[in-house]
Amino acid sequence: MLQTIAGFERIGEENAFAVLARATQLAGEGRSIINLGIGQPDFQTPDHIVEAAVKALRDGHHGYTPATGILPLREAVCADLHQRIGIEANPDNVLIVPGGKVTMFMAILMFGEPGADILYPDPGFPIYRSMIEFTGANPIPVPIREENEFGFSADETLALLTDNTRLLILNSPANPTGGVTPRAEIEKLVAGLEDHPDVAILSDEIYSQMTYDGAEHVSLASFEALRDRLILLDGWSKTYAMTGWRMGYSLWPDVLMDKARKLAVNAWSCVNAPAQFAGLAALTGPQDAVRDMVAEFDQRRKLVVDGLNSLPSVSCRIPRGAFYAFPNISATGWKAKPLASALLEEAGVAVIGGPDFGILGEGFIRLSYANSRENIEEALARMRAFLQTNADRPNP
Ligand code: PLP
Repeated sequence: MLQTIAGFERIGEENAFAVLARATQLAGEGRSIINLGIGQPDFQTPDHIVEAAVKALRDGHHGYTPATGILPLREAVCADLHQRIGIEANPDNVLIVPGGKVTMFMAILMFGEPGADILYPDPGFPIYRSMIEFTGANPIPVPIREENEFGFSADETLALLTDNTRLLILNSPANPTGGVTPRAEIEKLVAGLEDHPDVAILSDEIYSQMTYDGAEHVSLASFEALRDRLILLDGWSKTYAMTGWRMGYSLWPDVLMDKARKLAVNAWSCVNAPAQFAGLAALTGPQDAVRDMVAEFDQRRKLVVDGLNSLPSVSCRIPRGAFYAFPNISATGWKAKPLASALLEEAGVAVIGGPDFGILGEGFIRLSYANSRENIEEALARMRAFLQTNADRPNP
């Protein structure tokens, strides 16, 4: 009886956490493990942000806050959006949530039901498909192609929209590929969406501030024509090295905001009060730490991409966003998941197999370069040695 609660046979999870657990276990047994698996900055949260949380606790902010978040924080989110992407947002449309993930959970719950189609990027963040399937909706993958530098194609996306489509999920800069969709493609998509006025859009822009080589982050929220059906997902986890604080925000259109607030009241009442003060300090304080972190990621990105391209039978496009490289390993003779597993167990390098991000992830592995240059160099050396000695080894 308890084993057969509806829906749970369809829900998935994030294999990056399983890889992290295995890597931690192996390291605990004394093995030398370099973790390029999990997607979180290896930096500390900047001091002034930590101090703001400590001060909030000392000042007595121990209670509930409004379910949508403290007003100064929602105002700071709007000021930040104005400064970065030039939009006028109303604090009444902002919801502070416990982590970026929560916004996708809420949006997919709202729109997912049997018979509905929800489009999502493949390869893409695994929780999109997991939650779509959980609601009983049809997961419709939008192919994200290597030949498009891992940006999405407006034409391919528009061609998949039908009368059944309720929600379109977009993600740029993207996990797991590091792809950044160029402005022209986004403008084409926005123009095409005019013919589909009933489709809601969830734009996951959690990596909005991590772009390189002058690549432009184009926010879907900057298109006025979409604002009455766009849900913007962003947060503090990646930008401010705050993954464990569980701080995210979303911007909702008027028609959905009260529904989102009700879900928040039903689920978590409000986000941890001192964490909200930390989030406020992050947005209103100095941004040097963000710039420094992104500059360091940029250096590592070059190191990792050059290193990968010098490995036997491996080729890697230059990612222009986030902190991931997504090399093509199909010429190595290995399938992606057995390769990822062998690299961890035998070479002590944790990476994630592309199929953990969708069917179209076969032939690729994901490396997070949120690790020191020294460790990245050592990981590449270990991968080289492994591939040289195991090129022709049969794998399942
Ligand atoms: N969206 C994408 C594309 C991500 O890669 C992640 C985290 O890896 C999230 C959302 C979730 O972020 P958070 O840790 O704030 O829930």
